[in-house]
Amino acid sequence: MREVVERPKKYITLTYGCQMNERDSETIAGLVERSGYQEASSLEDADLVIFNTCSVRHSAENKVYGKLGQLKRLKHEKPGLLVAFGGCMAQLEEVRNKLQNIGVVDVVFGTHSLHELPYLLEKAAAGLEKPVVDVWSEPGKVVEHLPARRRGGISAFVNIMFGCNNFCAYCIVPYTRGRERSRQPQDILVEVQQLVEQGIKEVTLLGQNVNSYGRGLEQKVDFADLLRMVNEVPGLSRIRFTTSHPRDMSDKLIHTIAASARVCEHIHAPLQAGSNRILRAMNRGYTREDYLELVAKMRATIPGVAITSDLIVGFPGETDEDFQDTLDMVEKVRFDAAFTFMFSPRSGTKAAEMKGQLPLEVKKERLLKLNEVQYGIALEANRRLEGQRVEVLVEGQSKTNPEKMTGRTRTNRIVVFNGDEQLVGKLVEVRILAAKTFTMFGEI
Ligand code: SF4
Repeated sequence: MREVVERPKKYITLTYGCQMNERDSETIAGLVERSGYQEASSLEDADLVIFNTCSVRHSAENKVYGKLGQLKRLKHEKPGLLVAFGGCMAQLEEVRNKLQNIGVVDVVFGTHSLHELPYLLEKAAAGLEKPVVDVWSEPGKVVEHLPARRRGGISAFVNIMFGCNNFCAYCIVPYTRGRERSRQPQDILVEVQQLVEQGIKEVTLLGQNVNSYGRGLEQKVDFADLLRMVNEVPGLSRIRFTTSHPRDMSDKLIHTIAASARVCEHIHAPLQAGSNRILRAMNRGYTREDYLELVAKMRATIPGVAITSDLIVGFPGETDEDFQDTLDMVEKVRFDAAFTFMFSPRSGTKAAEMKGQLPLEVKKERLLKLNEVQYGIALEANRRLEGQRVEVLVEGQSKTNPEKMTGRTRTNRIVVFNGDEQLVGKLVEVRILAAKTFTMFGEI
């Protein structure tokens, strides 16, 4: 029988990976707080440690295993400590087998059974079975109205759909998050209205591929329709969304973004690679020519639109010519910013089985080269705004310059400027004085 803790039980959530995991961690916090837990100040202060994991790359997984090792020692000192393990890694059988051997975890919950967590914790606390495992291979219905402890601030994430049907050859997400399921537009609108009532000024609509929102819903609605509806919510200053699959970027959507005052002029449309041969091997469903045409259409229709991307180097079989094609596309498109990665084989994906896996040195070399080119382009794009006035939504105190405030432009650029806490949540006009690769500096 576990040691009884008189004071309120405390929990801590360790969140890894993407914005969807950050949003899930808000729900995890809401669920355990509703069953009496309070937030702990540290790992040592916690009675319950919850992992919300990411399996998109080896590095993400290694961090988690490292932390589990640390917890093994803590559990010797604190036998009553409960450890719950969730997120994308929990969906993978090979990971669950590893957890059995590590022997630290009391509860394993999958991405589709997150709402079961309080019940699973009770079972574990009763010591009925160890570990208590609840992982569904297929998602059930979208569970609405789950409690959430929001991370605060003036902006919030709103899931509009879950899962992905695209099966890009390198990606584990369709295996860990299941097939696409869209939320009902009414449920999304209610959530946005409630957030505005709580003081939120900006929402980011989240989905692995928001452009395919609405598929499978009885009601005939697509992402452009949803954007128009959210754009009508009074009291909202800004709407952002991520991620957009380039193949599903319709003219209707592009025109809706241009016509919707609150929708920010920033589109994150991952290109991933510049070679048609590699794009085919990745199963991305478009060519470099399609992508260039899309970029031209977006820039012609949405004045001043910022286009950002994800780029992978070192995909199996990538030749010097293929890599050169990626650099060439980066030079042609001139992304405002890009997240760049070395290919990381994920067991269970097609790409992990492919011939032509490249040595780490080659990947590192190509990543360095790509960053050099891309960062130069991003700096140039930021420098073009020097002397200009930009609208900034004030988010709070700058972490790097505590005496300054920070916020973002509509094109998702970070700006640091003079000001005080009273400006938080306000739209202010800032004149850009100096620009760097990732940050701009200005004055109100
Ligand atoms: S679109 Fe491709 S890369 Fe994005 S989540 Fe789906 S399978 Fe993964």
